Order: sequence, then C-alpha cells, then structure tokens
Amino acid sequence: MNLTGKSASHGIVVGRARVIKTEALHVEVSTVSNVAAELMRFRSAIAAAKKGLQSVHARALENLGPDKAAIFEAHLLILEDPELVETTEAVISDRKLNAMAAFSEVSHAAVAIFDAMADNEYMRERAADVRDVSDRVLRELAGVSVADLSDLHDEVILVCRDLAPSETAAMDPRKVLGILTDLGGKTSHTAIVARTLEIPAVLGLRRITELAKTGDWIAFDGETGEVEISPSETTRAEYLERRKKQDAEKRELLALVGQANETPDGRRTEIVANIGSPQDLPGVLKYDAAGVGLYRTEFLFMDRSEAPSEEEQFAAYKAVLEGLSPKPVTIRTLDIGGDKPLPYLEIGHEDNPFLGYRAIRYCLEHPEILRTQLRALLRASAFGNLRVMFPMIASLEEFLAAKEHFETVREELRAAKVPMAEKIPLGVMIEIPSAAILSDVFAEHCEFLSIGTNDLIQYTVAVDRLNERVQHLYDPFHPAVLRLIQTVITNAKKFGRKTSVCGEMGGSALHLPLLLGMGLDEFSMAPTSVLRSRRQVRSWTFAEAQELAREVARQSRSSDIEAILNRASARPNQGRSSI
Ligand code: PEP
Ligand code: MG
Repeated sequence: MNLTGKSASHGIVVGRARVIKTEALHVEVSTVSNVAAELMRFRSAIAAAKKGLQSVHARALENLGPDKAAIFEAHLLILEDPELVETTEAVISDRKLNAMAAFSEVSHAAVAIFDAMADNEYMRERAADVRDVSDRVLRELAGVSVADLSDLHDEVILVCRDLAPSETAAMDPRKVLGILTDLGGKTSHTAIVARTLEIPAVLGLRRITELAKTGDWIAFDGETGEVEISPSETTRAEYLERRKKQDAEKRELLALVGQANETPDGRRTEIVANIGSPQDLPGVLKYDAAGVGLYRTEFLFMDRSEAPSEEEQFAAYKAVLEGLSPKPVTIRTLDIGGDKPLPYLEIGHEDNPFLGYRAIRYCLEHPEILRTQLRALLRASAFGNLRVMFPMIASLEEFLAAKEHFETVREELRAAKVPMAEKIPLGVMIEIPSAAILSDVFAEHCEFLSIGTNDLIQYTVAVDRLNERVQHLYDPFHPAVLRLIQTVITNAKKFGRKTSVCGEMGGSALHLPLLLGMGLDEFSMAPTSVLRSRRQVRSWTFAEAQELAREVARQSRSSDIEAILNRASARPNQGRSSI
C-alpha cells in the first residue's frame, strides 16, 4: 500500500514497523468532598510530571545536545505557569471538581488560545507543547503510563500518531531507522529533531498508525515522502538499491571535502551554510562549508517565556564564531513576527502578519531588544570573523537607523574598553522588491547584500509563502523574481560589493548554474547541500553558466525557464532541486 506524506528528513529506509499506540486517556468528571486531599493529589501529579520531564531533559541533553534540550526547560516552565497551576487549584477549590477534570478544562483552554491562531505554524506547535505537558500531568493523575520509547531493542521504524518532543528525546536514536507519523509538518519539533539526528522521517501521513501493524515491512523515502506498507520483495529490493546508490553518492560527495568551489575555467564562488544554532556547527564542519551565510538568531528567542539575556546571546554567538574562526559567520539580527511571533514580545494579532510588524520594523521600535543583541554580537566579534545583516529592510532609512544603533553600541563598548573585532561588515537582506529596486543605493551604504529569496518571491508575486491554497503560484522561476535578483547582483558589483543568496534558492540544484551565470558571489544553504553544490560548480564552466543565464533572461514565461533549467540539470553531477 502506498502513501505520501511530508518530507521531513532525507534518507531511504527499509525496515520493520513498531507502531506506538499510546493508551487512551479518559478524563473522569466528578465532584470531590475532600478538597484539601484533591489539591494534594494535583500537586503531587505536577511534581511527578516535573520529575519525569527532568529525566527526559537529562536524556535529551545526552542525545540531542543543550540547544535542542532547551525545549524541555520550556516545558518545565509550562508546569510552573500560574495560569495553569493556580487556575486549576482555584477550580478544584471553588467548584469542588476532581483534579483531572479541573486540569483538563484549564489546559484545554490554554491550548485553545494557541489553536485559535492555528493558521500559524509556530502557534500550532506551541499548542502541541502545552498538550504534551498537560498529557503528562493527566496521565500521572489517571495512573496511565506515558509512551515509553526508551526500551527499543531492535532497529525499527517508529510509527506513531505524533511524536511528542519528550518521547523523541527519550528514544535511543541508534535503534530508530526512521520515523513516520500521522501528524506534523516540516517545522515541527519531530522534524527538527529527526534532521539533527539524521534519522529519515516522513510526517503528516494521516492514517499510518491505522494502516501499519508492528512487525510489518515498510519502505520509505524521506526526500520524496513516499511510503510503502508491506512492500513486495521486489519493491524492497528496489528501495535498497536506491539506498545503495544514495550511500555511494554520499561517499562520492564526501570525497569533495577540501576541494575548491571553482569552475573548470577558474571562476571561484563561496558556498556557505545556513544555521539556526551552535548545535548545527558539526554539520557545517563535516560538509566543509566556507563559513555561515545566514545564522537565524530567532531560534534562540523561541520556546521560552522571555527574551534571552545579553550573556546568553553572547555565549551562543561566541560559540559559533569561535567554532568556525577564521571562517566568516554572517549573523542576522532578530527576524521575528510574520510566521514567527513570540508571545512574550506582544506583537498581537495582525490580519496580514507578513506585511506587518516584523523583523527590523519591530526591532527599530524596540531598541532595547536590538541593542542587547548588538552588544552581544559586538562582544562576540572578538572571537571570530563576524558579519552582521539586518532582515526585511524596505528603505534606506531603516538600514541607516539600524546602523546607527550598531555604531552607538560600538562606541559604548569602546569607551568601556571591551575587546571587539576591528572591522565588522554590515549587510542588508534583500527580501522586499523595494530593496531590490534600490539595491544600488544600498550597495553604496552597506558592505554586502544577501538575497532572502523565500520572502523576495512571496512579496514579488504576492503569494503568502505558507498559504497552501496558492502554493502553485509561489514561483521560484518567475521571470520577475529572476530579473530582480540579476538587478541586485549587477548593482552590487557596480560598488564592488558581494551578493549572497541565503533563501532556499541558494541551495537549489536547478538554480545553481543560473545564479552562477548571473555572477552571484556566494551561495548559502543547508550544510547537507554544500558538497552537492560544490560538485555542480565544478561541472559548469563560467562561460556555459553565463550563456544559460542569457538564455533564461530572454524568456517571458516561468514554465519555459523551468524547462530550460530542467534540461540543464540533466547533465551529469547536478543532483536534485531542493526548492
Ligand atoms: C528568506 O526570506 O529567504 C530568508 C532567508 O529568511 P527567512 O526564510 O528566515 O524568512
Ligand atoms: Mg526572510
């Protein structure tokens, strides 16, 4: 039987299923005569849940590292949230409701607040966090066990409805060949953890827990999202054959470590990595990226109840700079809002969050947040090769205002004799058409330009990048988008500035020869795509890539452009597209 889900972590797997069905939880509703005893029961359930979470946190630290384990600190905070705990106690005392019913009611209300914003992926995941924590407390109250993945003896494909972060952390990753779930998407915690552990995963399969049984053979491809339950022997052999090819390709790519990103006719490019935390450094080093082209600092601000302190930020930035020194590390200031709201920053509801109060717009109105981050960055600059860039710049005034904050903080630190790097290049992210059109102006005032194609596409063709209904219109081959990119590269060169592409297009195999031919200086992408891109750069002469770019520039239809790029990708050593 064939199913298709959402690709969450690449890799081909053939193995036996272990279907995890958590014991159903029934919430009994009753009134209690001894309120004091019920309050005690509730408090000891909270204490037991805390203890359970603390041990999950310890295991997560071991399996996943401090950064990914931080989610359980956030979970522990949820257990201390007065909204949840005190309100439940009040319900038990005032209405004499049993602890289970009271807590279930209060936690459901909390989940409902996040669910009300369910069109927003980040909020959906926060709802999942509260659900995960509440479920743990309710199970303690009911005396029903939490799904235990710490006893996996054989290597299995985990099949479950959803994998709560606490369950993922508890499992022994060496025993998990792959993960398949009914629920979840690309940015869910399960997906992030699976990618960190390099465990192939397909999520959002809807009914896989009903369709598969423990012990069934399963074959799946984490890249295409294809899953086969009980595949025939021939199909299993086909998947294994594909995996063999993939493994051989991986080995071939790893042989490119240490080689130059240079075309046969001598054009050099930089291939750097996108990261979200210091936890991603091993991948950057393993796949030999020339540095970091985009460090998305907002992850440091998520899954918590208040903004990270200057010290905490300093430690994270220093870890990355020091770990990669002397390679350049481009750190982007806080890009929050849009699809990434933070409850504690009180951005509030917006009808059009992508056109709203986000990124640099928010930071310029909250200089204390921006300056704290800039102080941490400037202090960390003493430990490596830092470049700083500002997201979502729409006008020169915004960049100049951000730069002024940077200069002020630098002066303060200088006066206090804090060690810092001599020179820290400042860049502008080109994500809005107005910035692309004005790129000559920006090139005059900043030191480098970095094109965020994820946003540039959505704003150029007016398609919400997260709205599934219009995904077919979100078009990375649109001639208008490509013209804007060419404009930016050409304008930057006029002022001797370099241009990088750090959106998904930067790692797209289909776009690589085109961007190379357009004269792009730097490609920034997931660490796992670096070597494939290196192989591609080494397979094109600059002259051929320029000819391809000229051919594309003559087209008016995106379908023609896509066809041309597909043809170009049919030559050897190109690899698959990743947009
Ligand atoms: C982009 O918009 O291309 C980009 C790199 O930023 P983000 O995806 O984080 O919005
Ligand atoms: Mg962006």
